[in-house]
Amino acid sequence: MQAGENRRCSRTIVDHGRPSLPPWLFLALLIAACDGRQDARKVEGPASPQTPGPAGVATEGKDSKMEGGAASKAASKIVKTEEEWRKILSPEQFRICREKGTERAFTGLYWNEHRKGNYVCVACGNELFTSETKFDSGTGWPSFWKPAGESSVGTSHDNGLFTRRTEVHCSRCDSHLGHVFDDGPQPTGLRYCLNSAALGFVEAKQK
Ligand SMILES: [Zn+2]
Repeated sequence: MQAGENRRCSRTIVDHGRPSLPPWLFLALLIAACDGRQDARKVEGPASPQTPGPAGVATEGKDSKMEGGAASKAASKIVKTEEEWRKILSPEQFRICREKGTERAFTGLYWNEHRKGNYVCVACGNELFTSETKFDSGTGWPSFWKPAGESSVGTSHDNGLFTRRTEVHCSRCDSHLGHVFDDGPQPTGLRYCLNSAALGFVEAKQK
């Protein structure tokens, strides 16, 4: 009689465990996982035409930039030779992005742009700024008080003969964008003063 009781006991444990993993739950999880994968592909889509196909891009004259960087960061960097950039960019874009030039005030495409959308790097498509943080600075250059993401742009000291400024560049391809000053509006107090020629604009879809 005791053995029978044991058997009944173990059966109740098994029966108790079974309902916690119903087959419909597996199905639901599978469907959810598939949806997630599709979304990821959708997000990747628009960026892919911007990224260069063959990875074997020469690193001539740029090797110093790669040292010490995290492996993942180095992998996402876009490095091209001067000749390759010349093929991709217009002469004006090349002068500004790769030779740190500056366009004349009030001549660019975006200083007076008021549509909602995202501003991307004209050279590599990296998302840099959004219309949410754009403001009228009165300078004749598109101005923003904050980049789109924490790692969207990088800065470096730009010491001229009489001026000391902070240069702003795309964190992915190092294209020169403009300068950042500390006389911007709150909440950051910063003014990212950029060249329209270094930017592309992706208008937000109307709802
Ligand atoms: Zn870029």
